[in-house]
Amino acid sequence: MTCGKASLAGSVSQRACVFCGSRVVLYPIVDALHIIHGPIGCAAYTWDIRGSLSSGPELHRLSFCTDLREKDVIFGGITKLGASLEELIELHHPKAAFVYTTCIVGVIGDDVEGICKEMSLKKGIPVIPVQAPGFQGSKKDGYRIACESLFQLVGTQNRPIPQYSINILGDFNLAGELWILLKYYKRMGIYVNATITGDGRVDDICNAHNASLNVVQCSGSMMHLAKMMKDKYGTPFMRVSYFGIEDMSDALYEVANFFKSEELLDRARDIVKEELADLLPALAPYKKALSGKKAAIYVGGAFKAISLIKALRLIGIKTVIVGSQTGDKDDYELIQQLCDPDTIIVDDSNPVELSAFVKEKKADLFIGGVKERPIAYKIGLGFCDHNHERKEALAGYEGMLNFAKEVYGTIMSPVWKYVK
Ligand code: SF4
Repeated sequence: MTCGKASLAGSVSQRACVFCGSRVVLYPIVDALHIIHGPIGCAAYTWDIRGSLSSGPELHRLSFCTDLREKDVIFGGITKLGASLEELIELHHPKAAFVYTTCIVGVIGDDVEGICKEMSLKKGIPVIPVQAPGFQGSKKDGYRIACESLFQLVGTQNRPIPQYSINILGDFNLAGELWILLKYYKRMGIYVNATITGDGRVDDICNAHNASLNVVQCSGSMMHLAKMMKDKYGTPFMRVSYFGIEDMSDALYEVANFFKSEELLDRARDIVKEELADLLPALAPYKKALSGKKAAIYVGGAFKAISLIKALRLIGIKTVIVGSQTGDKDDYELIQQLCDPDTIIVDDSNPVELSAFVKEKKADLFIGGVKERPIAYKIGLGFCDHNHERKEALAGYEGMLNFAKEVYGTIMSPVWKYVK
């Protein structure tokens, strides 16, 4: 499988740019100021791009931009950035500020790092440059840059926390799934220190190095941070998924096993038993109705695709196409083992290819994100958002039921007979 390569120049790739990659990772930190140093288009492209629900402040939902114009490109935009930071920090009193650079700033070379240092000293909060000009790689590079920005915060505060403590990395609380996970871990007796970055708080991230374990869900975006924390602070990490019955249960068991506690393991078993007693009978009618249907998956991270394949199987649906924007060789090998030999597996695709594959395989359902939705609707098949825009929490046991309901609703919709 060829993967991990830069997209072909000029191709209409499904991948997003470096800036977008960094923005989507950092955006859910709700008490930080997020300001984009670049043209307004870059800000509009990523404004409120994720649900990323907050249990408190909502500063993250405001998109600030220096709105660079022709004159700024010629004479430099740094004065504008300094004035914007000065005014916005005064107005909103954020716990930290993230300053994203975009393509044009990469070209004109404004000293963003310098002004961030200056503002940090002046205002007494971390002002962190996120050097992510869109052209310098792929969305995955944006994830790495976001992790490096977060790492500047980690270790800057010290607060004692209980021994059975974890950080949740790689859940972005798009539709409240983080709150479902917090309930499970609370029932187990695990203290969740920092949620990075869903419903994230700057102070918790600053104290993240004191947790006993990093539990990483979206490994594509967060593994780099987990590795840096292991190297510097010795914080171990494990990779989990909260989607689907098997993976959700494993996530609870593996955390209990990490702490080598029979008590935690017993509580995890009780949670799984109680949840399944309700969930399995509720899923049965959906499985009966959906058995034999075929699905196409195209998502950002391959780990998500792996969970989706398993969850679809649970409700009787076969995956006939599966692809991702940022998967690596190991991910695709695992996908190959999980799927039938005739499943199409694809990396870094484009709309023309995806449309052709969907038609060839006669899929009934497309699962993807904002850029895949129009492909599905134009062809006339059901679509399920598993990315930024979704409104239903799909994590955990209740998420599995939401997923089955959503898939059923879209596949069985009578509207498709009018567009085919
Ligand atoms: S590719 Fe460049 S110009 Fe386009 S959104 Fe990304 S940073 Fe902005």
